Amino acid sequence: MFGKPLAGHQAIAFKLADMQTKIRAVRLLTYEVAWMKDRGVRVTEAGARAKLYASEVANEVTHDAVQVLGGRGYMKDYPVERHYRDARVTKIYEGTSEIQRLVISRGIVRESAESAGEDGRAPGVVEGSRPVAG
Ligand SMILES: Cc1cc2nc3c(=O)[nH]c(=O)nc-3n(C[C@H](O)[C@H](O)[C@H](O)COP(=O)(O)OP(=O)(O)OC[C@H]3O[C@@H](n4cnc5c(N)ncnc54)[C@H](O)[C@@H]3O)c2cc1C
Repeated sequence: MFGKPLAGHQAIAFKLADMQTKIRAVRLLTYEVAWMKDRGVRVTEAGARAKLYASEVANEVTHDAVQVLGGRGYMKDYPVERHYRDARVTKIYEGTSEIQRLVISRGIVRESAESAGEDGRAPGVVEGSRPVAG
């Protein structure tokens, strides 16, 4: 288009970079939960984080994918419109995004209170929110 491939346009290229970065971040959150589960660690909040962000990213990325392809992305000739529609329900089933946020925020408050009670540190030092790797 306009003498070069779509990805040759910087606005599209940046979108692709953001899309891939989000997908990889979600993959790491998912691997984190699996890693914790394998070790018998409680995964209530980590599972909610992975489910929440995977749903958000699925919606953002498929939305952008339709946009990148323009009218072709909207038509049934290409699978992108199907991915876009399929992504929408992930914010609803298996726990809506709002409920995942409730689970995560309650975990933050609980861990913060626990850590303050244990060693007298100020609330806000949340051990369970640290990355498991690194
Ligand atoms: C395609 C599809 C397949 C499904 N498959 C299954 C299945 O196999 N098994 C099964 O058991 N269920 C299944 N469901 C049901 C699904 O789990 C529920 O739709 C989902 O849990 C949301 O419940 P609800 O529809 O009653 O919405 P409601 O609970 O009425 O929620 C409506 C809105 O209010 C928000 N909300 C509710 N409570 C709060 C709160 N306390 N704080 C903030 N916001 C809140 C919700 O996030 C949502 O946005 C399926 C649904 C769909 C669409």
